[in-house]
Amino acid sequence: MIEFSDEHQQFRALIRDLVEREINAHADEWEAAGEFPAHQVFKAFGEVGAIGIEYDPEFGGGGAEHTFTMILGEEIGRASSLGIAMALAVQSDMATPALHSFGTPELKEKYLRPAIAGDMVTAIGVSEPDAGSDVAAIRTRAVRDGEEWVINGSKLWITNGLQADWVCLLCRTSDEGGYKGMSQIVVPTNSEGFSVSRKLDKLGMRASDTAELAFNDMRVPVENTIGEIGRGFQQQMNQFQNERMIAAYQMVGAVELALERTSQYLKDRQAFGAPLLANQAIQYELADISAHLEVLRHHNWAAVAAFNAGQDITRHATVAKLLSARLARRMADAAVQYHGGMGYVEDNWPARFFRDTRLWSIGGGADEVMLRTLARLEPIGA
Ligand SMILES: Cc1cc2nc3c(=O)[nH]c(=O)nc-3n(C[C@H](O)[C@H](O)[C@H](O)COP(=O)(O)OP(=O)(O)OC[C@H]3O[C@@H](n4cnc5c(N)ncnc54)[C@H](O)[C@@H]3O)c2cc1C
Repeated sequence: MIEFSDEHQQFRALIRDLVEREINAHADEWEAAGEFPAHQVFKAFGEVGAIGIEYDPEFGGGGAEHTFTMILGEEIGRASSLGIAMALAVQSDMATPALHSFGTPELKEKYLRPAIAGDMVTAIGVSEPDAGSDVAAIRTRAVRDGEEWVINGSKLWITNGLQADWVCLLCRTSDEGGYKGMSQIVVPTNSEGFSVSRKLDKLGMRASDTAELAFNDMRVPVENTIGEIGRGFQQQMNQFQNERMIAAYQMVGAVELALERTSQYLKDRQAFGAPLLANQAIQYELADISAHLEVLRHHNWAAVAAFNAGQDITRHATVAKLLSARLARRMADAAVQYHGGMGYVEDNWPARFFRDTRLWSIGGGADEVMLRTLARLEPIGA
């Protein structure tokens, strides 16, 4: 059980207000444009300390405990464009944790501080055309030439890829192959040899830009390496735990709001001489979703406690990501179904919600990849 303090509640109110003003007020326009002004939005969140909440105050972070990250996740999950919530989560919890944990003070000063402030937009570059679920199959390579890396290869599906000032790049730095010989490198996008090959046209998360990136003899100082050369895979696996938890926190917020809105609609909508919500068939489905949401919320609280206690949260993060993605899909289906034709038109929220939530069972590790991880952990230990 988490005892929420006044400070927690104030932070929740602050983010809810910010989501309303900085995201929801413009969401329709940015969804239609297929892009949102990341620098503007991240700056607004950076100014109130919502990026790098837990990071070291020496580099501009908030030095707070993990409950605040959960609150941030739940509140951005209530945004009317989940693509913008995802883009923001990339900045706060997917592209920057490794730099915070393993980067040198100089690297943090140059790249982490402006990311926390919202002055620089970041991206996480792991997936490639031939390596998504199987991260060990990546081929992008950095070859050392004196004090520089020379990088060649490509990355696919990169969120914020069109607007990023730097990418946390996972690439090969030796010929060892498999899980070995990878490193994480901070790659500034204004370097020669970097280009955006294309912008992807997606089913959902439409306000978030997603790009294919190309690296052609791109030169980056070796001092931009995050942590130990050759430990990139392991560091990225760590970073994935943050990514999966912030995704699960968002889904709690998203499902909670969708449940409230759907119930309200069904109270108002009349059919067969009564509100639609009077039908037990509908009540039971929504009650079942609400029960699953409650279990998930408590699971997330347990994850927060484990994280704050410095424990390995791999199992928590994997269970949370898998079950929250499935619950969000179920909620999205119910929202469209129970709104009838009104759920199928772009004028109303369920249509976008349906498209956006579909990503969560694919991005950040597909459901099957979560199951594969769980099957390998105790108590199954396959
Ligand atoms: C909108 C969007 C944003 C993204 N943002 C980023 C980003 O910012 N940075 C980044 O690096 N990546 C990003 N990704 C990539 C994302 O993480 C990958 O799409 C995901 O990991 C799946 O990889 P893949 O698409 O190559 O699918 P594949 O690896 O080809 O897998 C296809 C499907 O096969 C099934 N599958 C895979 N493995 C197994 C298995 N072992 N057993 C059974 N079934 C399996 C799953 O259903 C999976 O969906 C993003 C993707 C999207 C769509």
